[in-house]
Amino acid sequence: MAKHIFVTGGVSSSLGKGLTASSLGRLLKSRGLKVTMQKLDPYINVDPGTLNPFEHGEVFVTDDGGETDLDLGHYERFVDENLHRDSNATAGSIYQSVIAKERRGAYLGRTVQVIPHITDEIKDRIRRLGGEDVDVVITEVGGTVGDIEILPFLEAIRQFRKDVGRNNVCYVHVTLVPYLGPSGEQKTKPTQHSVTELRSRGIQPDVIICRSDRSISDGLKRKLSLLCDVPVEAVVSCTDAASIYEIPISLHEEGLDDYVCELLGFEPSHHPLDLSAWESIVRRVESTDRTVRIGLIGKYVNLPDAYLSVVESLRHGGFAQGVKIDLQWIQAEEVEGLLGAGRLASLDGIVIPGGFGERGVEGKVAAATFAREASIPCLGLCLGLQVMVIEFARNVVGLAGANSREFDASAAHLVIDLMDEQREVVDMGGTMRLGLFPAKLAPGSVVAAAYGEELVYERHRHRFEVNPRYRSKLESGGLVCSGVSPDGRLVEFVELPGHPFWVGTQAHPEFRSRPDHPHPLFVALVAAAAERAEGRSPHLLDVPQADELKVL
Ligand code: GLN
Repeated sequence: MAKHIFVTGGVSSSLGKGLTASSLGRLLKSRGLKVTMQKLDPYINVDPGTLNPFEHGEVFVTDDGGETDLDLGHYERFVDENLHRDSNATAGSIYQSVIAKERRGAYLGRTVQVIPHITDEIKDRIRRLGGEDVDVVITEVGGTVGDIEILPFLEAIRQFRKDVGRNNVCYVHVTLVPYLGPSGEQKTKPTQHSVTELRSRGIQPDVIICRSDRSISDGLKRKLSLLCDVPVEAVVSCTDAASIYEIPISLHEEGLDDYVCELLGFEPSHHPLDLSAWESIVRRVESTDRTVRIGLIGKYVNLPDAYLSVVESLRHGGFAQGVKIDLQWIQAEEVEGLLGAGRLASLDGIVIPGGFGERGVEGKVAAATFAREASIPCLGLCLGLQVMVIEFARNVVGLAGANSREFDASAAHLVIDLMDEQREVVDMGGTMRLGLFPAKLAPGSVVAAAYGEELVYERHRHRFEVNPRYRSKLESGGLVCSGVSPDGRLVEFVELPGHPFWVGTQAHPEFRSRPDHPHPLFVALVAAAAERAEGRSPHLLDVPQADELKVL
């Protein structure tokens, strides 16, 4: 039977609870345990698909087309397992199931209540993940202890221990230990309050992870141990890290995985830790002064979490090439002005990420044009491919006013459009292409060389496609549709021969990149960008590929 670890957070949101949970997942996996992870989100949206990226960051897409919380991206990157839609459950989806059962008459006339019906449904979702082949399920509860909405979730995880037995469950509580400048002290009071709140819901934490900007002294650990009633080895210091990939290493140095293994009955000596591959990846770019400057042309640049997986994939590409990424956030709406200011010209590479809605699109089109004309390596992701096609249609093929139906349904040339069968569906909700789809790559193309394969699978999340009616016009202008769906109808990749790297994909490859399996398209973009940067730094390319970095 699978063991369960529940991760809750206290004092403040944005403590990096997801990263802490992911890091623990990595440590347990590095001890040979089979780990899976789950996020329970107390908000009412049925899934995060409808949430504004400004507020909530990116929507992470799983192989099976689940639109999930961005923490699942961290889980996949750290634990290196493909998760699925069941790996994320919101209060909305839980209520939806319970209400649907009630409508079907499943409750036989009883009053349907938070306890036991909602809590039973939550426990069901947790139990579902603990299959035969899983040793540990790590479940992160979103939000902060003390929130009104979190109560049913705390109640469910409290009951869970009773249901499956004390030795099969471990509660990890992540809190903040702030440093107060004027008094020069780190303060434990917020943690004490947060643990008191958790206990008032019947949960005594087994481990307390203290987030702080500096390490927690042994004296402070003893104080927290005494006041919060956990052994001193179970008070773990987790300081701000230069790179998120260092967190597993520092949590291991604090003894977290040893402690948790013992608590759950995994004899640590039977499960020796091997973090060496992970460490060598993290250390690879630590001391290098080789840097490539990549511009990300986005519209949510004030909330970097909106592009989390793209940024991490660029870093992974940097690991593979042994270069640091100097990421430049560029507001799409300002791009035309910036062209004059030369900011784009100073870039070694450009990424045009996905997006929805008209704002910023013309700036992205301008960036694609600039990249093409100035021979700057450029990777377009989803909407990024669409704007590359629009710019190419307008400026190379001469189709004035070319656009996407999403931005101007009456445009003279709808080079990006809904497919005919989609247009007949009135409800937009059913028309999104979501999840993993195959693509056939053209032999000899840039993308086939990057992947080293001719049949690839990528995750999608979009409605619009390259309009097949314009494909031959685009191709006769010189654009190569280098990847198509197996039936040949949908354009999945475009590229431009003769350009150092001008590649668009209709998919979201950023959702499949992992630090130890960097995604080939990001590796190729960073390689091309490094070549451009060579002018700035002559020895940039003398970097051997590391054996431990296996491209997907
Ligand atoms: N808005 C575009 C579409 O729906 C692109 C979506 C995306 O970039 N994820 O097709």
